[in-house]
Amino acid sequence: MKIFVWLNPVSIAMYGGDYLTAQLKECGLEPVECRQDHISAVRKKYNQIVNRTSRCVADMRCPLAVDYVKKQYAPNFLEYPTIEPILLHCARELQQRLEGQGQLIVTTPCRSIKDLGTNLHLPNVEFLTFLELAQRYHITLQKKELQASPIPPGFFAELGDRVIILDSREKIDDYFSAPVPQNAHLLLEMLYCEEGCHHGDGVLEGAE
Ligand code: SF4
Repeated sequence: MKIFVWLNPVSIAMYGGDYLTAQLKECGLEPVECRQDHISAVRKKYNQIVNRTSRCVADMRCPLAVDYVKKQYAPNFLEYPTIEPILLHCARELQQRLEGQGQLIVTTPCRSIKDLGTNLHLPNVEFLTFLELAQRYHITLQKKELQASPIPPGFFAELGDRVIILDSREKIDDYFSAPVPQNAHLLLEMLYCEEGCHHGDGVLEGAE
């Protein structure tokens, strides 16, 4: 049976290249790519929610940040839209396109998105962190030092200055520990890992 593998953009930026592709192919894995622009689609969904509600909208792209905020602070002024992370949009596209052709491995930058994806129970799809994929197939990694995440903080910049960027757990703590005027902000961009997913525990060895 064919095994397809989708590498998320963060893993590609950190470890991608001919060296990695050759190893994947040697292991019998066939790299696949998305054809649809899920980044724009997700942005559009947030724009629609922001235009429809008077409440402050929570960024749902980072499940770890959302879970942390709900558990630690349980704010009563946030709206949590049912918009899946971009990576899950990619997984759904590939699952539908490759249906009946084999198995699909979808790599994630962290355990948190892996768990979210796994809980979808998409047929013939397995979610693994990138480091788990490398470990399973004994892939030797060549890591590049990134100055920024391929999907850096500022995803919602077009919504203007009423968007707050909380791109670390510390910034999330600072924001929710201070008195927050209700409806002061349109949207909270929230990323648990400092400056984004290139510090996720599924791509960065030793990350918590
Ligand atoms: S890698 Fe970090 S910032 Fe990105 S989704 Fe996962 S927990 Fe959130």
